Amino acid sequence: MNSDPYATLGVRRRINAAGALTRLGGAVMAPEVVAAMAAAARGSVDIGELQDAASVRIAAATGAEAGMVTTGAAAALTLAAAAAIAGWDAAKMAALPHAEAFPRDILVPRTHRTGYTHALAAAGARLVDIGHNDRGTGAGVRGLEAWEIEAALSPSVVAMAFSVNVASLPDLPVAVAACRAAGIPLIVDAAAQLPPRDNLRRFIAAGADLVAFSGGKALGGPQASGILAGRRDLVASALLQQLDMDVAPQTWSPPKLVDRARLRGVPHHGIGRGFKAGKEEIVGLLAALDRFVTADDAADNARLEARLKAIAAKLPASAVTLIPAAVSGRVPVLEIAFADALATSARLQALDPPVHLSERHSARGVLTLDPQVLLPEDDAPLAAALAAVLTDE
Ligand SMILES: *Cc1c(COP(=O)(O)O)cnc(C)c1O
Repeated sequence: MNSDPYATLGVRRRINAAGALTRLGGAVMAPEVVAAMAAAARGSVDIGELQDAASVRIAAATGAEAGMVTTGAAAALTLAAAAAIAGWDAAKMAALPHAEAFPRDILVPRTHRTGYTHALAAAGARLVDIGHNDRGTGAGVRGLEAWEIEAALSPSVVAMAFSVNVASLPDLPVAVAACRAAGIPLIVDAAAQLPPRDNLRRFIAAGADLVAFSGGKALGGPQASGILAGRRDLVASALLQQLDMDVAPQTWSPPKLVDRARLRGVPHHGIGRGFKAGKEEIVGLLAALDRFVTADDAADNARLEARLKAIAAKLPASAVTLIPAAVSGRVPVLEIAFADALATSARLQALDPPVHLSERHSARGVLTLDPQVLLPEDDAPLAAALAAVLTDE
């Protein structure tokens, strides 16, 4: 391979103004994160011991009791569900995803049903829809209410799931209080809720028992990485179900997170064995987390905003709106209005190099220029491509 593996493979580089999308390769890693991964690749370590070290770092960054590196937020959700179902029970771990014989229900508010709730079900959980979708459909103003959670509780319920974002955040205290009263863990999907950096701590501080973050989005870590942070016993169960367990009970040296006295035996490979986090992902995620917690959100956003303004200056003013970070809740973005947003998106993707804007708000007739992983050298060709499509619309 030469220095550009994509060129060697005949795969085109793309101008990515759509954000850290998994299908476009996620984050673009900083050179020091790449260097940390490369150094990690050259040696052997005990992965359990490495995850113990990761737990200490993740706990410090999130305020949680414990944490582990997963292969993404979706994997973290599957492991969280597996932990809620199995706890310390090696026999239940061995049975998953076949959990029909024991409690396995996870409550999911209807406004929190996403494409990613499948990741909870993958562990063997049965998803129980609760509440109404008035906000989602625009039919009304009401969000999640305590009685809706209480009415769904039964001995077969092992957890509740919560997909957090700017719109659902006001309902988090209601869910925390109901789950505390019922003695079930609250699993929060916060995959894409970074930045702001404070969100690393916010949901744990609010009382969530487990929180999932993507490592390959704004954290700037390896694409196939993520974080599961939260209660120590639940993280330990999740870790046990992820680790390589082809071990002799006589010589097994469990991670410190694992309280061996609570296990009836040494578990076999669990539901998460196929989601193994490698030493490179673990070290890379921690290096990215270090950078992220020391970053200056305000300065980063000011830099992004200046780049967006320079791009906007080359486009017809009537088509472009700058949305500052304070309004988007994340990074500043440009919304660009097109006569037919999806048709324009298809045209941009057919260019050479292909150009990607976010289609998230295409129903409103806009494509969103999200600069999160846009390389600075792509700003000028991006502006030229956008100016060209806007003039011959
Ligand atoms: C991206 C995303 C996920 C999945 O994250 P990965 O790290 O790609 O596994 C889960 N939930 C939400 C809300 C997301 O945006």
